[in-house]
Amino acid sequence: MHLARFPRLHLAHLPTPLEPMERLSKELGGPKLWIKRDDCTGVSTGGNKTRKLEFLFAEAEAEGADMVMTQGATQSNHARQTAAFAAKLGMECHILLEDRTGYNNANYNDNGNVLLDHLHGATTQKFPGGHDMPGEMERAAEAKRAEGKKVYTIPGGGSNPTGALGYVNCAFELLGQANERSLRMDHIVTATGSSGTQAGLVTGLAAMNANIPLLGIGTRAPQPKQEQMVFDLAVKTAEKIGASGAVTREMVKANTDYVGEGYGLPTESGLEAIRMFAELEGLLLDPVYSAKGAAGLIDLIRKGHFDKDSNVVFLHTGGSVGLFGYDFAFDHTDRRVSIG
Ligand SMILES: *Cc1c(COP(=O)(O)O)cnc(C)c1O
Repeated sequence: MHLARFPRLHLAHLPTPLEPMERLSKELGGPKLWIKRDDCTGVSTGGNKTRKLEFLFAEAEAEGADMVMTQGATQSNHARQTAAFAAKLGMECHILLEDRTGYNNANYNDNGNVLLDHLHGATTQKFPGGHDMPGEMERAAEAKRAEGKKVYTIPGGGSNPTGALGYVNCAFELLGQANERSLRMDHIVTATGSSGTQAGLVTGLAAMNANIPLLGIGTRAPQPKQEQMVFDLAVKTAEKIGASGAVTREMVKANTDYVGEGYGLPTESGLEAIRMFAELEGLLLDPVYSAKGAAGLIDLIRKGHFDKDSNVVFLHTGGSVGLFGYDFAFDHTDRRVSIG
């Protein structure tokens, strides 16, 4: 397969680094942990949506769109990266935000990703949790089309076969980096949500016959639903790249034991992961996705899930801007000291 057949805008900073996490590996007593830095994709502080948006915005441009719409949770990283792409391309951007947490905290509602959405010139509109967001977005798009706008709609998380191409590309990139330095990757672990990241990766890995187990750590849906979503999207993505049948159901594995009380609600194990990555590796995770993914990674290591001499790659999907919307989740008063 040849990804250059698909229109793409080269706005991401690629390839993202693949780095060892020596202090974290030592703290946990092995395996050897590596991190693929998709928090460093460049556009508006980076994150995993940027790879998807390179393909989605190319399609929007090809269709002559002058406005994009998307939807997500209040502190959506996808919304922020979409707003930045729209700014760069001179398109109007409208974002529908669903209140999935019920937090009325000022920082949660106005800081972090929401602040950046607005700085990029996007407009936002709030909806209560459980609202029919895809339906609402279609109604909003129709209203704008009636005014003569050419609206391109992007599904939540940019997770459709076009967006997933970004993670097929990431699978190529990662395998190339590992091959070049003779790094045998035994496992890849990443947070999974709207499923485009895992679906694209599993498709790319399968199309290359890489035979590397990929584990998604869930952040919202229960396991059967999460795995089905990833598999369905992977099947469509494989068809799109001409690799129909490459992805089998057994290749799609999600562990949803680390979701906690629900989407966007911080967990103790996630907060511990944030502190460990920050204090041992100088890395910033986010409470909604990458912290829960890392919490799963850490817990599975503690339970002996990975051989001590194996190489485990954690894909960092970004999101640290969300920390500024979740500052209430952290008690850091013990860090203020007086010396002398
Ligand atoms: C969206 C997101 C994810 C999940 O990726 P999906 O492709 O939606 O499964 C993980 N981490 C961060 C930081 C995200 O913003």
